[in-house]
Amino acid sequence: MFHKILIANRGEIACRVASTARRLGVQTVAVYSDADAHAKHVQACDEAVHIGGSAPKDSYLRWEAILQAARETGAQAIHPGYGFLSENEAFAQACADAGIVFIGPRPQSILAMGLKAQSKQLMEKAGVPLVPGYHGEDQDPALLQREADRIGYPVLIKASAGGGGKGMRIVEQAGDFAAALASCQREAINSFGDDAVLIEKYVQRPRHIEIQVFGDTHGEVVYLYERDCSVQRRHQKVLEESPAPGMSESLRAAMGAAAVAAAKAVDYVGAGTVEFIVEQAAYDQPDSMKFYFMEMNTRLQVEHPVTEAVTGLDLVEWQLRVAAGEPLPLRQSQIPRAGHAIEARICAENPDNQFLPATGTLAVYRKPAHAAFSVAATRVDDGVREGDAISPFYDSMIAKLIVHGDDRAQALARLDAALTQTHIVGLQTNVQFLRRVIQTPSFRQAHLDTALITREQDRLFGQQGLPAEWAVAAAVVDVLLQEMASAGSDPFDQRDGWRPFGQNVRRFAFVWDETTLQADLHYGVAGEWTLALGERAWPLRATRAAQSLVIDLGAERRQAQVYWHQEGSEAVAHVFMSAGGARLQRLDVLAHAGDTQEAGGRLSAPMPGKVVSFLVQVGETVKAGQALAVMEAMKMEHTLHAPRDGVVAELRYSPGDQVAEGDELLKLEASAA
Ligand code: ADP
Ligand code: ADP
Ligand code: MG
Repeated sequence: MFHKILIANRGEIACRVASTARRLGVQTVAVYSDADAHAKHVQACDEAVHIGGSAPKDSYLRWEAILQAARETGAQAIHPGYGFLSENEAFAQACADAGIVFIGPRPQSILAMGLKAQSKQLMEKAGVPLVPGYHGEDQDPALLQREADRIGYPVLIKASAGGGGKGMRIVEQAGDFAAALASCQREAINSFGDDAVLIEKYVQRPRHIEIQVFGDTHGEVVYLYERDCSVQRRHQKVLEESPAPGMSESLRAAMGAAAVAAAKAVDYVGAGTVEFIVEQAAYDQPDSMKFYFMEMNTRLQVEHPVTEAVTGLDLVEWQLRVAAGEPLPLRQSQIPRAGHAIEARICAENPDNQFLPATGTLAVYRKPAHAAFSVAATRVDDGVREGDAISPFYDSMIAKLIVHGDDRAQALARLDAALTQTHIVGLQTNVQFLRRVIQTPSFRQAHLDTALITREQDRLFGQQGLPAEWAVAAAVVDVLLQEMASAGSDPFDQRDGWRPFGQNVRRFAFVWDETTLQADLHYGVAGEWTLALGERAWPLRATRAAQSLVIDLGAERRQAQVYWHQEGSEAVAHVFMSAGGARLQRLDVLAHAGDTQEAGGRLSAPMPGKVVSFLVQVGETVKAGQALAVMEAMKMEHTLHAPRDGVVAELRYSPGDQVAEGDELLKLEASAA
């Protein structure tokens, strides 16, 4: 075994590799960019070397700098993680030339599987089933059109050099082919520097099922079963699970054998994934499942923890052992498989805006209870801590949640619980979206195909998450309990009552999903509270438990967590409950009420309170927006501003006076000019 390795990656995968290395007593060297100077992966390793600027091309893709770092620190091997240099045969060769072990396949294997068209030619010879299609060298557009017509529509045009879901076009009919081809080639040349394409039949109810394979330097290859990655957006994986629902032992064995044949055809060493597209005549007909080779990823995959959970094996340990020349730890017949695992990718993105990636700081980052590794019921893999930023330089994945259960239903329940306990504030994420996806009938019934998200879109997008009254109740209760905690009393616990400044009603305003909600909290004579929202009202009680608020609204009791986050000039409450989440911007009732006065031009008290001072005198000319008076309400001072230009004609109260909501505080007359 190595005594020291360098990890040529960042984020969660660098942390993941480091944790296995540590367990095995192998020292680790991190590399990092400017943006990652204080990143978690740097801390996770024993040593670290700065390799350049924040953009990948200035750091994580600079293989000379990485090799240099390995030489200087005495690392014997380099783990490339996924992405970046992991599938770069020139880098694998450069490592070999420098006498450093590349923890991955041989350069020739990477090359052979690097282009989709060439790899299909190889697979054809190895007897691996292929999707009906065209993967020849001749790229004459007229020929490509004839091939598409022959295959039959719909077809998929793919960039041969493509990856990460880019460079693909579905064509529904012959007349659309030429335009789709041209646009696919443009994207291919821009993204991959190579405009060669191949054409495949677009299979019906397509499922993405892949097989994890492992080879060693002694010519042995085994498979570690399958992962179903059918739930995708933009051809990218969202949820992955194992076993694949509906997978029979005979189909598993056939796909496993095909994957091993594929790996053997390229003398494969280390961890790899053979991706298949699976066609099904109907969701409930597993017998109709037919599989076809799609591509091979010659690296450790993002979703490898799913396989670790069902086999109880550490795939990174296997990678290190194989790279060190050891034989595979287990034979095919010895590889265990138990229970059901699901992984969810938590990303900084806005599902309601075409999954647009988001950046920002993890102001709050609370994870579900989890254990570090392997067959734990819940595992969290990440490369960030609370307070860290998701920068625009790298991908948008924040963390992976991996759950394991005795069966799919139990795994699903655990995933839902884990997502419920994942609280992220500071940037947009897909956490609530993921919860909705796993709650769809399609996902629950395992009616899987790559169109699941589109098919269920009505339940998935533009959803509000929580009933308004619960979102508001949680925010209001949190405000009150915070205020009272600082005042040393509890408004819900005191029989003699807490009456804010002698008033019976306290008004709150929130913006929720672009609508303004006004909530009135009434304080009754018997010391009870009522929350009124629009036409409806509920008795309200609440207490703060260790981790959360316990709220009684009417006869129902629920728990909530509330985090306040300052967003620009806005105080925003992020409410998390098991029913969902909500984001409520709190409006300063006074400032807001001031806005509505602009039309009338009156300066009146927006809520009950006390006049603290006037900042102007009678006869003074004032400008719109100028501060005129200070009021105190709810232990807070609020400045009221002139709704328009004018002259102060009369001050109608004195400092110290109590005023009611709507009372006119001063008279403003139109100025003479
Ligand atoms: P998978 O099939 O496992 O999802 P992909 O090929 O889509 O694998 O990519 C693997 C991961 O590596 C993804 O999370 C992707 O965002 C990331 N990745 C790939 N290339 C780069 C790159 N050049 N810079 C940053 N991240 C990358
Ligand atoms: P990438 O290199 O970008 O991962 P893949 O060839 O693996 O490209 O395809 C990505 C995804 O596109 C698959 O997971 C699947 O959802 C979809 N796909 C690919 N080929 C087909 C096909 N022939 N029919 C239907 N869907 C397909
Ligand atoms: Mg793929």
